[in-house]
Amino acid sequence: MDVQKIRKDFPILNREVNGKPLVYFDNAATSQTPVKVIDTISDYYKNYNANIHRGVHALSQEATDLYEAARRKIQKHFNASQPHEIIFTSGTTHSINIVSSGYGQLLAQGDELIVSALEHHSNIVPWQMLCEKTGAVLKVIPIDQDGVLIMDEYKKLLSDKTKLVFVNHVSNALGTVNPIVEIITKAHAFGAEVLIDGAQASPHIQADFQALDVDYYVTSAHKLCGPTGIGILYGKESALRRLPPYQGGGEMIAEVTFEKTTYADLPHKFEAGTPNIAGGIAFGAALDYINAIGMQQIAAYEEELLQYATEKLSKFPGLKIYGTATKKTAVISFNVQGIHPYDIGSILDKLGIAVRTGHHCAQPIMDFYKIPGTVRVSFSFYNTFEEIDTMLEALKKAISMLQ
Ligand SMILES: *Cc1c(COP(=O)(O)O)cnc(C)c1O
Repeated sequence: MDVQKIRKDFPILNREVNGKPLVYFDNAATSQTPVKVIDTISDYYKNYNANIHRGVHALSQEATDLYEAARRKIQKHFNASQPHEIIFTSGTTHSINIVSSGYGQLLAQGDELIVSALEHHSNIVPWQMLCEKTGAVLKVIPIDQDGVLIMDEYKKLLSDKTKLVFVNHVSNALGTVNPIVEIITKAHAFGAEVLIDGAQASPHIQADFQALDVDYYVTSAHKLCGPTGIGILYGKESALRRLPPYQGGGEMIAEVTFEKTTYADLPHKFEAGTPNIAGGIAFGAALDYINAIGMQQIAAYEEELLQYATEKLSKFPGLKIYGTATKKTAVISFNVQGIHPYDIGSILDKLGIAVRTGHHCAQPIMDFYKIPGTVRVSFSFYNTFEEIDTMLEALKKAISMLQ
């Protein structure tokens, strides 16, 4: 993998922040966008901008063909068995809300749902809203001090009352890779469905939907070099057929009269209204880009960055890393004794280094560790060891200023 060559594909990496070369270590929040993806978006608006699935004219057909080709690329990338099992959404949050909203009609009082203590708020709040509406009960798989799910506790939570389990594949706050194969197998043994939030996993781990036998898998394009405002809800055909539609409107109907409306077939049943057409096509371009480099090469290189930075950071006096699972992606959450994470983040920003500080949309994890938040650095395949060194120097400076 030629990282210097790859970096040339990302124009933003050339810019300066506060007079310093940008070091972008906030990849867990959103990834940067390669020229190929940017060009795909501008090509759509320059050359064939038209609404899809309805026009007889050439532009509409070109746009429809490319949008549907992107759906098949996504299907192939994740090894779904059918293209119509890939529903385009605006992103992970939207995808989860489609399922939680549909489940409103599938649950009864006393049914149980299982979530993990490692979740992003977007995989907690929609389910709490659902429980309030239906009288279903939310159970939580706890974590240990390493930020790893306690699987024995998970087994105890499962019962015939369990209807759905929803867990992230990788924690955005700590980087923990969850044992989703075991989670899925155990849930299925009780007849429960499983939704996996793959937003943080997709850039680093190749998920195979059929091999996983997962019922729902959701992710956002912007975490893997695609644009914002586009993502997918994958569902097994049987699961998507059972799930009631989310929004009503154009595109999602078969026939409308004032007496009764029948819904369109998959995937259109869940795709009401004009979608993010350029975004969908650009999502396909992002997968092409990543696959040309190779998911395995990316994962191996990011693992090296993670090991290098973890080792160096561990030597800082008073620095504590949260999330010490053996299986992690390139995310390091930490605090330095006596210093608020926000203050470190602000000084790093002055030095051109973009990190995330705060609770990372995962307040229950921060509560577990009894901290207000952390400093989080997260790497992508276009980051370098030199950038890590720059960050380490800047961190030393910040600590000496703040202590
Ligand atoms: C980023 C992220 C989300 C939210 O994704 P959106 O694109 O903001 O909807 C949810 N879960 C995890 C694990 C994430 O990393």
